[in-house]
Amino acid sequence: MVEAMSIPVTKTGHSNLDKVDFKHLGFGKYFSDHMLEADYVNGEWTNVNIRPYQALGFLPALSVLHYSQTIFEGQKAHKDEKGNIHIFRPHENWKRMNRSAERLAMPQVPEEIFIDGMKQLIELDKDFIPSGYDESLYIRPFLFATEETLGVKESSSYKFLIITGPVGSYFSAPARIYVEEKYTRAAPGGTGAAKTGGNYAASLLSSAEAKKQGYDQVLWMDALEHKYVQEVGAMNIMFMIGDTIVTPDLTDGTILNGITRMSLIEAFEEKGYKVEERKVSIDELVEAYRTGQLKEVFGCGTAATISHVKELKYKDLVMEFDVDSMKVSADMKKYLLDYKENLHGDPHGWLEKV
Ligand SMILES: *Cc1c(COP(=O)(O)O)cnc(C)c1O
Repeated sequence: MVEAMSIPVTKTGHSNLDKVDFKHLGFGKYFSDHMLEADYVNGEWTNVNIRPYQALGFLPALSVLHYSQTIFEGQKAHKDEKGNIHIFRPHENWKRMNRSAERLAMPQVPEEIFIDGMKQLIELDKDFIPSGYDESLYIRPFLFATEETLGVKESSSYKFLIITGPVGSYFSAPARIYVEEKYTRAAPGGTGAAKTGGNYAASLLSSAEAKKQGYDQVLWMDALEHKYVQEVGAMNIMFMIGDTIVTPDLTDGTILNGITRMSLIEAFEEKGYKVEERKVSIDELVEAYRTGQLKEVFGCGTAATISHVKELKYKDLVMEFDVDSMKVSADMKKYLLDYKENLHGDPHGWLEKV
């Protein structure tokens, strides 16, 4: 087995650090100098190494290109005022990646590679981590099938990679969203709870149509009855109805178990709010809107932390919200952003030092 912190490193001869415009980071534009790589062959992890971020060579029969056996994670590391680096809840991402792997018939990624390898990689490329408020190093671990065959079966070999890159503070303008009635994202028994590329591929037409109609995203409904809301794009969804925080439950495996969602539930409860994880029907939301009880609507995910919804359209009804009055979620957003910047001293044990 791989020993912790002993991964061999090939360092780049020409750093790309000077090409990064730290004033205009955006998202997903820049990549750090190095990547972690590991191969799964003959039932074992081998070739664990860190090397310069570079092109990979493959033959056209690479099975992931045909049958989409691929999973990923998305997480962040922040540099605090003293220059300490912390990753937010990386063990949750590791566990989730391995749940996704199980669903996609892929091998488990060992902690020594995922966690220790990630820390070693981040330490090596730490100059890429921006230190401004809400700026971070985005971390993208992913695993894909590498057998060269057109046979339909689980692959006999896989490649695991971690790439990283600096990202800016994510200003998310309040979103306009419509309730998707034609397409569905996930059905019970499907892959909705796995972080896999196929779920995204299947959602792109819907988002393209939403954009054409002037909307930012769609709110997915359950596939069976088109009655219960599920989640939005790459975000889970939460509502404040009356004084209660309400969010769709995860029990039927159609919703991605977001680490932001999980953290918010803990933080809201700690602050004394009642949180309900349960089925949320669109009829209930419409009724709560009509009676003035639907006070806050927001998406939550690693990229934006919390992203407010200013308009929600269902059939002919356009529900409009005053985002400036969404104080509970706005305060919570600040709490979580401050938390990631290590301004709270980590009372929940969510920060892991690099
Ligand atoms: C990643 C993701 C989320 C958010 O999960 P976080 O761990 O909070 O970033 C929500 N929905 C989908 C479909 C996702 O892929």
